Amino acid sequence: MRLDEADSSRAQPVLTRQRVLVVEDEVRIREIVRLYLVRGGFDVIEAADGRDALAAFDADPPDLVVVDLLLPGLTGEALVRAIRDVSDVPIIVASAKRGDDDRIGALRDGADDYVTKPFNPVELVERVRAVLRRGAPATARLDRRLSFGAGRLVVEPGLRRFVCDGRAGRLTPTEARILVALASGAGSVLDREQLLHAATRGTSETTRTIDVHVANLRRKLADDPAAPWAIETIPDAGYRWIAPADPMDARETAAPAAPQRRAAK
Ligand code: CA
Repeated sequence: MRLDEADSSRAQPVLTRQRVLVVEDEVRIREIVRLYLVRGGFDVIEAADGRDALAAFDADPPDLVVVDLLLPGLTGEALVRAIRDVSDVPIIVASAKRGDDDRIGALRDGADDYVTKPFNPVELVERVRAVLRRGAPATARLDRRLSFGAGRLVVEPGLRRFVCDGRAGRLTPTEARILVALASGAGSVLDREQLLHAATRGTSETTRTIDVHVANLRRKLADDPAAPWAIETIPDAGYRWIAPADPMDARETAAPAAPQRRAAK
């Protein structure tokens, strides 16, 4: 019997297994992480350093990547940036670096979550699930095409892609949720707690990291914090979406219509 069949009562059906790339140079930790992920119903690809990881990633892109920061050769930070340059795949950093700067730096580089070592492997598996859930289009809102500023920004949150000022780009799962949360409450101020809840659904990022995600979002949307067109900072309060939403007609003509979905209830 293969190990990944050992706990079939809890595992997902084989056809829908999601694949996690684990980048970790310490064999013992890699083995534990692999074991728990497999037991949790995931397929696991392993890489011992950044270059192996990039090769594995290019060969067959995974559904999520877990990255250690202290790696031989290419650093984990450089690996996160290299992956982010070509993909919006969810990334969780698992590192012994515990400083706020390391954590914020990793999020700024595009990581979706950060776990400090030593970590409980059960918790890591739950975070993998949580980050993957964030990435799934879970609400009707995420399935809709959104258009702002007379077509200046067109977003497909469910697919995590957008076109802004004629440039196409990708959003991380976290950025997509923050954008939808802000735009849904257009005109009203959302505080960091509200955004955190919308973005992470209760996983344990701190409100400070919302600022990093919002900064990343602004960069992608060419939104100058000093003279914003999309996201306004309200000091001591939070953020407010100020880009005017386009009428439905503009949404439909901006690009081909999204696939029909039944109003599932
Ligand atoms: Ca290491």
